[in-house]
Parts: sequence; structure tokens; C-alpha cells
Amino acid sequence: MSFPQVIRGSVGRQGVNNPDDMRLVEDLLCGNHDYVLRRQYLPPTTVAPGECDPVLIEAILDFQKGSMPVPNGRVDPPTGGESNINRLTWERLVRPPLQQLPQTLGRGYYSYSHGPQRQFGTPMAIKTLEQVAGIFFTRMRYNEPAIPGNRPYREIGIGDISFVKGGPIPPHGEHRWGTDVDIRPLRKDGQRAAVSIADGQYDREATRVLVEALLSHMNVVRVRFNDTKIKGVIWTPKHDNHLHVDLLD
Ligand SMILES: [Zn+2]
Repeated sequence: MSFPQVIRGSVGRQGVNNPDDMRLVEDLLCGNHDYVLRRQYLPPTTVAPGECDPVLIEAILDFQKGSMPVPNGRVDPPTGGESNINRLTWERLVRPPLQQLPQTLGRGYYSYSHGPQRQFGTPMAIKTLEQVAGIFFTRMRYNEPAIPGNRPYREIGIGDISFVKGGPIPPHGEHRWGTDVDIRPLRKDGQRAAVSIADGQYDREATRVLVEALLSHMNVVRVRFNDTKIKGVIWTPKHDNHLHVDLLD
């Protein structure tokens, strides 16, 4: 049996709840997002026409907790729905699952996250990070004559992105859907260690090259970081020791 690719009416709490649409939402939750419904569906005959099975509402609520601050248990069609937040749920449902940043060494970056389970991003976010690491490496070589001192090879340190299914990831307020990334500023000694803009080891020139590589990428929206001597960064409290990068996709 084939299903329509787009829901025709809203699904979930106080939705229109066409049977085909409910099935499609369930398929997307389970197939696209490895979602496991908490318990068996009610037999269809016990759900009145136009009502949504509470199990499905619960699953939608849980899914929304991954990506939005106020879950409401409902998905609207991509066009003609009643609210942006419900349309956003649909967009998230049809998106491919998050991918892990490859953890292999030798790609121009290293991880300083508290675990590989905290480094899942959208496919585009992961591609962006790999590309930026490559651009940074190339530009550092190009800039070497202009940067004083004999420097060790530097990789960029990538921290938290998101959990595999998104959602709250303490201590961050954001990082909910694979499009926020923390990156360390560069150090003069090339150590894989933290550094703050007030430290002697902080390397402004290399960090400037990193910021330029980020901001030249079409998927980078903005970079929050507190060394405002670097053009293009946005000062934000508590961003002396990392760059918070907002990605479009
Ligand atoms: Zn952050």
C-alpha cells in the first residue's frame, strides 16, 4: 500500500486526523527518526473518526521536545496549516535524521565534546564542518607568511553539536536540532586544549582565519565570539572561550 507523501490535513491533538495522514506521520516518526512508539497502537476501531490515537499524540509531543520549546502534540501540513510551529514539526519530520561528525582523526579537526553522542548534526551541518576544516587548513598555509612566528599545524576543536534525536542538551540553551556548533579559538602552541581570549596562548590571527572561513561558507548564519577585534563576530556573554556557530541548515 502506498501513502501520500504529504499530509492533507493536520494530525494530532485537535487535528483533522485523516487515517492516511496519521499513518504517514507514524511512518515518518518510526522510519525517518528511528522512533519507537511507547506502546502498541489502539485498535483503529476504538478511535473515533477524527480523533487521534493518544499514543501517536504522545509520540508527536516527544518528537517536538527535540526541536521546539513549546510542544503541542500536533503536525500541520506544509501549506495551509494553522500555525508555523506545527508546519515546523512537519519540516522536521521529513528531514533526514541527524548524522554524527566523523570521529576519525586527520581531517583537520578534533573533538573536545564530552562524548561522541553529543556530536550529531544535520547532514548539511556535518558537511559544512568538514569543508570549513579544509578551508581553514588551506588558508592557514596561505596566510603563514603573514602570520609571525613558526607555528605548529593547527586543527580546529569542535565541541557539542546535538544529540542524535536533538532535544535539550545541558548546559546549552540551544543546540537542539543539529545546526548549532561550538568551536574552540585557536592556540599558538597547537595543543588540543581550551583557551580563552585573555590567555597568552590565544592566537587571534589563526582564530581570525577560522572566523573568515566560517563566515565565507554559505551555510553559516553567524558566529558568536567575544574577541571583537575580529571582524564579523557577535559579542555574547560567556563566549570568551568558544565560538558558537549558527548554521542555516
Ligand atoms: Zn553553543
